[in-house]
Amino acid sequence: MTTAVVVGSGPNGLAAAVELAAQGIEVTVLEAADEIGGGTRSGESILPGLLHDHCAAFHPMAPSSTFFRTRGLERYGLRWLRPEIDCAHPLDDGSAGVLRTSVRETAAGLGVDGPRWRRLFERNAADFELLAEDIMRPLVRVPRHPVRLARFGLPTLLPAAMLARGFRTEQARALFAGIAAHAYQPLTRPLSSAIGIGIITGGHHNGWVVAAGGSRSIPDAMAALLHDLGAKIETGVRIERAEQLPRADITIFDLTPESIADILGDRLPRGTARAFRHFRRSPGAFKVDFAVEGGVPWSSTAARSAGTVHLVGSFAATLAAEKAIAQGRMPERPFVLVGQQYLADPQRSAQDVHPVYSYAHVPHGYTGDATEAIIAQFERFAPGFRDRIVGMSVRSTTEMAAYNQNYVGGDIVTGAKDVRRLVFGPRISASPYTLGIPGMFQCSAATAPGPGAHGMCGYNAAHAALGQLACPARDHQ
Ligand SMILES: Cc1cc2nc3c(=O)[nH]c(=O)nc-3n(C[C@H](O)[C@H](O)[C@H](O)COP(=O)(O)OP(=O)(O)OC[C@H]3O[C@@H](n4cnc5c(N)ncnc54)[C@H](O)[C@@H]3O)c2cc1C
Repeated sequence: MTTAVVVGSGPNGLAAAVELAAQGIEVTVLEAADEIGGGTRSGESILPGLLHDHCAAFHPMAPSSTFFRTRGLERYGLRWLRPEIDCAHPLDDGSAGVLRTSVRETAAGLGVDGPRWRRLFERNAADFELLAEDIMRPLVRVPRHPVRLARFGLPTLLPAAMLARGFRTEQARALFAGIAAHAYQPLTRPLSSAIGIGIITGGHHNGWVVAAGGSRSIPDAMAALLHDLGAKIETGVRIERAEQLPRADITIFDLTPESIADILGDRLPRGTARAFRHFRRSPGAFKVDFAVEGGVPWSSTAARSAGTVHLVGSFAATLAAEKAIAQGRMPERPFVLVGQQYLADPQRSAQDVHPVYSYAHVPHGYTGDATEAIIAQFERFAPGFRDRIVGMSVRSTTEMAAYNQNYVGGDIVTGAKDVRRLVFGPRISASPYTLGIPGMFQCSAATAPGPGAHGMCGYNAAHAALGQLACPARDHQ
C-alpha cells in the first residue's frame, strides 16, 4: 500500500492529508503541538465559556476553495456564519468605510465612489467560484478562465495606494487601504493590492464568514473526515531531523521553508536550501484578546454590527503605519484589526461578556509590549472601552512563534508577500510544492495561494504528489 506522512496539522497539512487519504493512501499526520489545527485553533483562554480564536478568525475565501467545495465538511459539523457587516473602518469624524457582502449595498454606502467600487468588484464577485480555480493555485500555470483572470488580475498589479487614491471619499480610500494592509506589505509596492482585492472579491461572494463554534471547527471537521478515511493523527511529535521521519512514499511538510531546510539539511538541492534559509519574512502580529462586558462602545454605528473593525484612521495613517512596520519601526498608532466573531456566532459569549479579538501590525520580531497602543486605538474609536475590560490575554511576537513554529518573529502570513514570493513562493520554480527530492513536498502558506485557512496549498501539494506517483519522472526540480 502507498504510504504518506504529513508533518504539521495546520489547515494545509490536514487538507493535503485528506486529498491523499481519499485516494486510498495510508496517511499519518505528525503534529508538534498537543492539539491539531495550527493557525485555526480556538479556546477559552480568558474566562470559562468565552471562546476566542487563537489565530485565523474570518474566512472570506475558504467556502469557495476547491478543497472546501468538494470535501463536504458540513457533514462533519462545519458551518459558516456571517456577521451583519463584514468590515468597518471607522474614521475620527465618526463616519466609517463599510464593507457589506452585497456589492450594491457597499457601493450605495460609498457615495460618489459607489460606481467605481461596483466596476472593480461586481462581476468578479459574481464569478468568484470560477476565478478561485485560477487564483487559488500557482500563478505560473495556463489559466482555466483567462479572460476572467485578466479582468481580475490587471488591477492587482497596481500598488494598493495608487488604487486607493482613485477613490474620492476618505471612507472608500481608507476602507480599501485597510483591507489591502492584510498583506503586510508597504502599500506603495506593485502587487500590494493583490491580497486585498482577493479578500474583498471573495467576501462579496461569501461574506467574511466565521466558523460556528470557533475556527477550531475547521480542523475538527477535517480530522473527523480523516478518521473516516482511515488516516492516523499523532500529536506531540516535533520533527527536527530527517532521521525522525517514518519511511513513506510521500512526505509533505506543512512547515516553513526554514524548518524544512533544518530538517532535510544537505539532502535538499543547494539552490533550494539557500532560498529556504534566506526566506524573506513579513512584519509581525502582537495579539491581545479581551473579555468585554457589554461589548465595545463604538462611536461608529457600523462598527457595532461589524465582524471585523480596522483601527488606524485615515488612508494616510494606514499608509504610514504599514510603511513604518516594514522599516522595522513601531508606529505610535499601529494598524489594529479587531474581531467580533460573537456577533455572527453568539454561542461564543458568556451572558453579557463577549470575546473581542485584536492584533496590531508590528515590526518583525518586535520585542516591545503593544498592549497599551492597542487599547489606545480602541479608546480612540470607542471611548470607555478600557472600563469594560474584565480580562485579557496577550501573545507577543515571540510567544506567537512559540505557540506555532511557523509564525517566525510573529509573521502570521508565512513570508513576505512581495512580487517574487506572490508569484513563485519560497523559491523560483514552476513546481512550487516539490522540494527536488523524489517523494518530498511542501504545503505551508508560504506556497501558493498563500495565507488563509482555505486548505488550497495542501490540496495543490497533494495533487502534485499524486501526479509524481503516477509519473515518477515529473517535477522533481
Ligand atoms: C493572529 C492570526 C490571525 C490570522 N487571521 C486569519 C484570518 O482571519 N483568516 C485567515 O484565513 N487566516 C488568518 N491567519 C492565517 C492562517 O492562520 C494561516 O495562513 C494558516 O493557518 C496557515 O496554515 P498552514 O497549514 O500553512 O500552517 P499552520 O496553520 O501554521 O500549521 C502548521 C502546523 O505545523 C506544526 N509544526 C510546526 N513545526 C513543526 C515540526 N517541526 N514538527 C511537527 N509539527 C510542526 C505547527 O504546530 C502547526 O500546527 C491568521 C494567523 C494568525 C496567527
